[in-house]
Amino acid sequence: MSKIADYLQEHLDGEVTDSLEVRRFFSTDASILQIMPSVIVYPINENDVRKIARFSWQLAQRGKLLPITARGGGSDTSGAAIGSGIMMVFTAHMNRIITLDPKKEFVTVEPGITFGSLQQTLYTHGLFLPPYPVSSAYATVGGGLANNAIGEKSVKYGALGKYVEKLSVVLANGEVIETKPLTKRELNKKLGLTSLEGDIYRGIDTLLEENHSLLQDERQRIRTLHNRAGYNLFDIKKKNTFDLTPLFLGSQGSLGIITEATLQLVPHNPQTELAILSLDSLAELQDLLPRIIDLKPSICEMINKTTVYEITRLSPNQLRGVLDNPSADIHLILEFDDSKEGSQKKALKSLQKLAERGGGYLRVADNNDEREKINKLRRSVATLFFETRGNAKAVPVAEDVSLPLDRLADFLHKAIDIYAAAQLKPAIWGHAGDGVVKMHPVLDLAQTGDRQKLFKVSDLIYNTALTMGGSISASSGDGRVRAPYLGHVYGKEARQLMLAVKKICDPHGILNRGVKTASAQEVKAMMRSEYHHQRHDYLPHS
Ligand SMILES: Cc1cc2nc3c(=O)[nH]c(=O)nc-3n(C[C@H](O)[C@H](O)[C@H](O)COP(=O)(O)OP(=O)(O)OC[C@H]3O[C@@H](n4cnc5c(N)ncnc54)[C@H](O)[C@@H]3O)c2cc1C
Repeated sequence: MSKIADYLQEHLDGEVTDSLEVRRFFSTDASILQIMPSVIVYPINENDVRKIARFSWQLAQRGKLLPITARGGGSDTSGAAIGSGIMMVFTAHMNRIITLDPKKEFVTVEPGITFGSLQQTLYTHGLFLPPYPVSSAYATVGGGLANNAIGEKSVKYGALGKYVEKLSVVLANGEVIETKPLTKRELNKKLGLTSLEGDIYRGIDTLLEENHSLLQDERQRIRTLHNRAGYNLFDIKKKNTFDLTPLFLGSQGSLGIITEATLQLVPHNPQTELAILSLDSLAELQDLLPRIIDLKPSICEMINKTTVYEITRLSPNQLRGVLDNPSADIHLILEFDDSKEGSQKKALKSLQKLAERGGGYLRVADNNDEREKINKLRRSVATLFFETRGNAKAVPVAEDVSLPLDRLADFLHKAIDIYAAAQLKPAIWGHAGDGVVKMHPVLDLAQTGDRQKLFKVSDLIYNTALTMGGSISASSGDGRVRAPYLGHVYGKEARQLMLAVKKICDPHGILNRGVKTASAQEVKAMMRSEYHHQRHDYLPHS
């Protein structure tokens, strides 16, 4: 092993490796980028995380940079779960439920627990954590918090951040802090600390004080429900509280490393009504979507014709018998989970009327077989990511755009035209009820022409979303892929504020270096020549 790997192994309880095979595995996530880490570490506890941060901080003080990247399930599509230096993998050991209080409806977890396994435990108590991504089988709560993820249920329940009570965070120098809403008095105490924590409270407080109206203006310009571009400076200061939690949520491990989270839970109702509404045109979507939202669905996801076509091309039997009219332009997957059965039935009736008047075709699941078919469709987009054959793949490009709901159909029209001009037909899916769009055109990243198309299309798509009051990063964060576009989202001054936040929290630039700051040139240099997302983690055998 290298000197660094040896040193870390000697001082940590968790495993350390610099095997080429393992490093190669962790050099990619679900994005189109690749960076080779130099050491892989599987921390056992917070103390390991602290020691690693401290080690890297001390090296940086001596002028040697060894960045740290936190990693959960590696399903990040923005190129944020990769990095040079130390890769800290949480799924091996730090994946436990620390406390679960079913009465008070709270759970405290370590970051490496997957949404899937957490939910299985919570269901047995009649509870659940409502925002979970489509990747929940292997995506972790830590990764979800770092991205402030949303999922199919967010249309009713909001983003993951809404459920956070408090976080434990290891700072760049190895200090551990707890973030939660502070009173004025508690804040004053923090402002007086002579530590990195004190520097962060003072730095952020001053920055918010001095730039209040600038931040108000920026916030109003972006009209979407979900905006993860840059850092969330908008929700830290409330009338009577000051809370750094929103700053760490969505920061993609670039400001601190989450080692523990206490989350609020919600009663789970497994008896729901499920339906698919197939629409022949985007005009129908424009007309029906606001009325469907008024019915308060607990799921309102979309999947377009090309997605169905691509999934069927890759896996011919996967969607057999699931859709009555697979050639419809767009399919909405809808669920109603109100605790009163009568309310669910009423919503379905209204949906039926909307479909009859609006021209859509409604298929309601009235037995378990039908429910399973609709669930199959919900989960099917993952097939796009895991295809191994050939070099031309449905790659995630400009794939996390969010729009104000009233502009969604208009945006989709324009996006399809942009792709068509580049002779591309993207698979489009997303959280329609949240105005979030994911797009996957088939491209061969080894071909220069296809790479050029990718960047050209991204430019046009992002600019289109921004002119409509949207954001380029809805739920998967900017990572490195979208970092070059941050200057288009925020004005020059606000962009400078975001960079100042990074400097305050991570003065040596150790944590997830390049995330939210990479230039277009740097991104081009990190591009893979082949896209394939590997779902299984490379974990130690101990
Ligand atoms: C098939 C598929 C479907 C998806 N569906 C959705 C969806 O519905 N909604 C959605 O929001 N996203 C979706 N995503 C994107 C992604 O799955 C989510 O953002 C997910 O929450 C990431 O979790 P992860 O454990 O894989 O994190 P990773 O990919 O490992 O990491 C994500 C980010 O979090 C950071 N991080 C990880 N752990 C920590 C920690 N402990 N402390 C600090 N930072 C940390 C990483 O450095 C990285 O920046 C999807 C991706 C795929 C491949």
